[in-house]
Amino acid sequence: MSTNLNGYDVVVIGSGFGGALLTHALLNEGRRVLVLERGRWPYRDSEDWNQKKILLDQRYKGRAPILVRQYGARNYSEMYGNEVVGGKSVFYGGASLRLRENDFSKWPFSYEDFITSYERAEILLGVHGSAGSDPYEPKGVSSYPFEPIGLTAPAQRIEKAGKKLGLQPFSIPLAINFNDSNKPRCQRCNTCDGFPCQIEAKNDVATTFLKGTKSGALEVKTNTIVERIKTKGERVSAVEYIDKNDGSRGLVEGDTIVLAAGAIQSPALLKRSGFEHPLIGRFLMRHCNAVCSFVFPFVTNPEQVFHKQLCFSDYYEDMRDELGSAVGVIQDIYTPAPEIIRHHAPFGVSWLAGCLASRMQNLLCIAEDDGQISNKVSLSNRKDSLGMPLVKIEHEYSDSDIKRRNHLVKMARRILRTAGGLLSYTYPIDSFSHAVGTLRSSTSPENGPLDPTCRVWSVDNLFVVDGSFMPSSGGVNPSLTIAANALRVAKHILTYT
Ligand SMILES: Cc1cc2nc3c(=O)[nH]c(=O)nc-3n(C[C@H](O)[C@H](O)[C@H](O)COP(=O)(O)OP(=O)(O)OC[C@H]3O[C@@H](n4cnc5c(N)ncnc54)[C@H](O)[C@@H]3O)c2cc1C
Ligand code: SF4
Repeated sequence: MSTNLNGYDVVVIGSGFGGALLTHALLNEGRRVLVLERGRWPYRDSEDWNQKKILLDQRYKGRAPILVRQYGARNYSEMYGNEVVGGKSVFYGGASLRLRENDFSKWPFSYEDFITSYERAEILLGVHGSAGSDPYEPKGVSSYPFEPIGLTAPAQRIEKAGKKLGLQPFSIPLAINFNDSNKPRCQRCNTCDGFPCQIEAKNDVATTFLKGTKSGALEVKTNTIVERIKTKGERVSAVEYIDKNDGSRGLVEGDTIVLAAGAIQSPALLKRSGFEHPLIGRFLMRHCNAVCSFVFPFVTNPEQVFHKQLCFSDYYEDMRDELGSAVGVIQDIYTPAPEIIRHHAPFGVSWLAGCLASRMQNLLCIAEDDGQISNKVSLSNRKDSLGMPLVKIEHEYSDSDIKRRNHLVKMARRILRTAGGLLSYTYPIDSFSHAVGTLRSSTSPENGPLDPTCRVWSVDNLFVVDGSFMPSSGGVNPSLTIAANALRVAKHILTYT
């Protein structure tokens, strides 16, 4: 039990990629950090690898829904996020790619400003990759901390098909521990992307940076929802929180406060706290993703082995001139268990889809999406059981988003067909797992709520380090960029704390 929560140098709200990497950097330089996190620690038991418990029952489900209106719907539907120490990193697939030089063209800093932080993040996260193999690799990737492991059989099938089509598949740089004998090593199971790792071989940020740090310099206060940030003049002075266990409220003072609650909750928290910048919550992006699935005339993964191993970036720059952005990448993705496929399949074909699960193989298409001012996070008039307004999301894809995604889907279908696939089915990803952009960093306050150091304009001591800061989504998975930015921002904070 914590005694005195005051007296820390920095208070960090949220323990995902941004919060944990920043915390690590500050602790390394002797600062004392208090992390307030609404979730609990991961269980790390057998149910973390149980597809029903994680994907259908959502055992880490948050207490209040987010109201989402998308795809032209008139009404809002309820969506529940997970709440856990480590945030989405606990469920992520470990793909750790850098954005490319061109992706920074509309950002207030350049790729060069990120190079050393990217390198540091790759080392800290123990990324396994093969430098020089990605045809659109940005400069400065001289080596990865570890070599990738050999391709498992399902990935080999995709590699062979890609090469037959003249493409250049490469190993996804992965933050999974295959090689370091000082830590639990990956068992190559088939419940990785979307699941906590029971044995902590996935280098999520709870395991890598927060667990076991008991020096007294760090306290992670779990089950603690920050309700509001309090301001005094040009500075923030304290945060008000609610203890989820008993509903009691508390206050923590802080000289520096860092918001890292994720791209949905961080803008909501600023709005609850009375911050009035007109772009808070605007420009929500989440990539325009789809899974392209084919049925094969044989069982595709009889050993049920891990195969999120291959990436294609061949089409990355195909539309830069036309649409002003990257297209994106294609990556391996596992096939869920029959009961999960049955649950999500369209009415009437669910039984058949479940029966075909063992013969399916899929590719995930990750396309850049436009930052549109109308896509936003705001607060509803509806309140949750603790009296806080529910968070609301409004989101629509642009025609360009769909064009980019369709370009990748077309190519993914060619790869899977060449690999031997017969019947195809493509479905969009509806989640906000790659949410970014809602508190964009900018060179002027007119264009975004954060300055280039990710400090809230006109507030001396409030920073944001989660995916909210990103001015565009780019065409690769976001975690490594969020990690690198948190390390970059930590340097600014260290200059005055
Ligand atoms: C299934 C899945 C697979 C993915 N795979 C990949 C991948 O392979 N590669 C990749 O790069 N990216 C992947 N991602 C995306 C990646 O995980 C996220 O982009 C990244 O983890 C986001 O980090 P963040 O710091 O912005 O926020 P989050 O991870 O959302 O962290 C925010 C934290 O703040 C806490 N919080 C929120 N509100 C409050 C509050 N009011 N008070 C206290 N605490 C609060 C949350 O509980 C959470 O722990 C995946 C995501 C998912 C869900
Ligand atoms: S594949 Fe490896 S890292 Fe992923 S959940 Fe299984 S054991 Fe953990």
